[in-house]
Amino acid sequence: MEKFDVAVVGAGPAGSTTAYRLARAHARVLLIDKSGFPRDKPCGGGLTMRAVHQLPFSIEPVVEDRVTRVRCRLKYGRVMNRESEHVLCLMTQRRRLDEFLVEQAVEAGAVFRDGVRVEIESDRRIRVDGRPVEVGGLVGADGANGITAKTLGLGGDIVNGVALEGNLPYERLPHGEWRGMLVLELAALPGGYGWIFPKGDHVNVGVGGWGTEGPRLRAHLRSLCDHYGVDLDELTNLRGHRLPMRRPGTKLANGRALVVGDAAGVLDPVSGDGIYEALVSGKLAAEQIIAGDIPGYERAVHERLDPLSSAGWGAKKALDRFPRAVFAIMRLPVTWRVLEKLILGEVAHPGEAKGAGLTAMKAIKTLARAA
Ligand SMILES: Cc1cc2nc3c(=O)[nH]c(=O)nc-3n(C[C@H](O)[C@H](O)[C@H](O)COP(=O)(O)OP(=O)(O)OC[C@H]3O[C@@H](n4cnc5c(N)ncnc54)[C@H](O)[C@@H]3O)c2cc1C
Repeated sequence: MEKFDVAVVGAGPAGSTTAYRLARAHARVLLIDKSGFPRDKPCGGGLTMRAVHQLPFSIEPVVEDRVTRVRCRLKYGRVMNRESEHVLCLMTQRRRLDEFLVEQAVEAGAVFRDGVRVEIESDRRIRVDGRPVEVGGLVGADGANGITAKTLGLGGDIVNGVALEGNLPYERLPHGEWRGMLVLELAALPGGYGWIFPKGDHVNVGVGGWGTEGPRLRAHLRSLCDHYGVDLDELTNLRGHRLPMRRPGTKLANGRALVVGDAAGVLDPVSGDGIYEALVSGKLAAEQIIAGDIPGYERAVHERLDPLSSAGWGAKKALDRFPRAVFAIMRLPVTWRVLEKLILGEVAHPGEAKGAGLTAMKAIKTLARAA
């Protein structure tokens, strides 16, 4: 029977970078995915610089644009434009990014098998295309619809948001400079927003919100398109996916197994970004496995990600209930400076802001409590 120190199920950003780190530490790692690579994943493909700083290598070969400008609009009404002297986000396409991340894991020594059927028998034994594999540890990195968490009694207590997105050539947008800019249509739908993200030869257009918006998601996306004079049918590659958001009861480790990324529901509730959290959870997972302390993983995730996640839940609820008040706070120059620092990773969570910026963050927290 084949034996590995660790099997990582799922080769998205969480799985590949966990496999990379473990392989670099000389563990024998099997990285497995049910899809044949390269494969796509419904995603805006935006990496905040906070996320980029978590990567153990450069992703320069797959960067398609660099964002320095942000345009936010509230309910298709009032607009806020901001520009940074720093690059805030790197724009990628997940098909290319994820293949690149897998290549790095393989170069580091991980064994990669894609397009395979994975069965989880226990935290010590799995089957790949029917053949048994013995493992010393198991990492569930199989995303929002994965099997590892369910099979091993992990995850749970997760609120699922939903998102729908597609691609559009630049020339179909109204005249203007769309490159280097994130467009966020805040409160365009309950529990979320619409977006236009720049890529190499097209933009990614999408909407995401509470799970209950699922049946109306197409109508919300049509409405976003209407505001830009685009027909929904012009979008290509239209696809939807869940946005899993954990709560305090979510179980992250059990026996020799743990979950990372979307499988753990670590996605940021207010932005719907999950790549940063996928990379951080992957790093913590690798560290805990190498230290031989898998049970300690849950505490490590709580310490590292809970302050940001709870601020995200608060901001999401406040924006949903008091959109105008939150937008008014967002428009303050001090708030932009805090948001810029958060995106750049210069502050870990809003509670670390200083002076007037902290006061603005506290005002959002007060609105969240009232909501
Ligand atoms: C529409 C949309 C837009 C988004 N935009 C952004 C954004 O711009 N920036 C950002 O930071 N985040 C964004 N997110 C969130 C982000 O996409 C996820 O948080 C991120 O992909 C999580 O990475 P992961 O590695 O945990 O899971 P995934 O990327 O989902 O990877 C999971 C992998 O597991 C594999 N898998 C699943 N089931 C099995 C199985 N049974 N056996 C084997 N393999 C399996 C899948 O094939 C997949 O390759 C967006 C999400 C959505 C839905």
